[in-house]
Amino acid sequence: MIRSIVPRMLATMYAAPGIGLAAPQVGLDLRFAVIDLQPDEKPAPITLINPRIEQKSREEATREEGCLSLPGHYAEVTRPERVVVAYEDLEGQPQTIAADGLLATCLQHEIDHLDGILFVDHLSALKRNMILRKMVKEKRARKIG
Ligand code: ZN
Repeated sequence: MIRSIVPRMLATMYAAPGIGLAAPQVGLDLRFAVIDLQPDEKPAPITLINPRIEQKSREEATREEGCLSLPGHYAEVTRPERVVVAYEDLEGQPQTIAADGLLATCLQHEIDHLDGILFVDHLSALKRNMILRKMVKEKRARKIG
């Protein structure tokens, strides 16, 4: 099932363009995500099935995040700097990744999606409302325009 969907997920992600896409973002009630940090180079996607965070560092890092589900909106999000993620690959084999930097951020962002959490949920209410208000305004503008 997942194996047959992955090519379409990757095509959607590369076309966006984005570096990660989780199944719930394309309306699938499945716990998997695809990630490729360098979509402009030779494709090197990772497919993570049932990913879960096994360890996270106490140190945190702040990075600007965007999301294909909230196009055009970016905000600084603070998360654990390093994580160890366990998952199954497309062959059903258990795997783990120890990640830092952009990959650690991306893994946490995509795993959040599987639990219905968006990056704006990590922001203060003030910042989150600013983004949500902008989105409402944009929607209205689109209707008029
Ligand atoms: Zn996202």
